Amino acid sequence: MTIYEVSDELQVLEDYYNKKYNGTQVTQIHRRFGELQKETFKKMLLESMNFSKYLPLIPDLSSALNNVRQTYKYQDDFEKVECSKCGGSGYVVITKVIKEGGETYKYQYGFRCTCANGQHRPDSVPTYAEVGIDENYFR
Ligand SMILES: [Zn+2]
Repeated sequence: MTIYEVSDELQVLEDYYNKKYNGTQVTQIHRRFGELQKETFKKMLLESMNFSKYLPLIPDLSSALNNVRQTYKYQDDFEKVECSKCGGSGYVVITKVIKEGGETYKYQYGFRCTCANGQHRPDSVPTYAEVGIDENYFR
């Protein structure tokens, strides 16, 4: 999401709590949650209203996001989006070839996809982006 989209969505909370986020707060929220799919971001905001007495800040939003993710954890009946990287599974497998002493070893690592499907997978599994694997790997 762009910072403008984040700022737009946050308005729901600003209206509800009758308070405004300042620029720094919006920037930080964008930095922390900007990679979320818009739908998940919205769910997180709504969830935060359930327990935040005051305009939700990052810790409140993090808890809300955990609650939202808990709801979907390990379920396979989520609405899948088309994705050329994970094919809808939410997981990607990355093969690393390592040459050592004349031998070639192939290692396979599983990561969560950064698409909406991946957000339905346990966040104990890092996304490929979190471990620094570039988008271009999949092209
Ligand atoms: Zn995907």
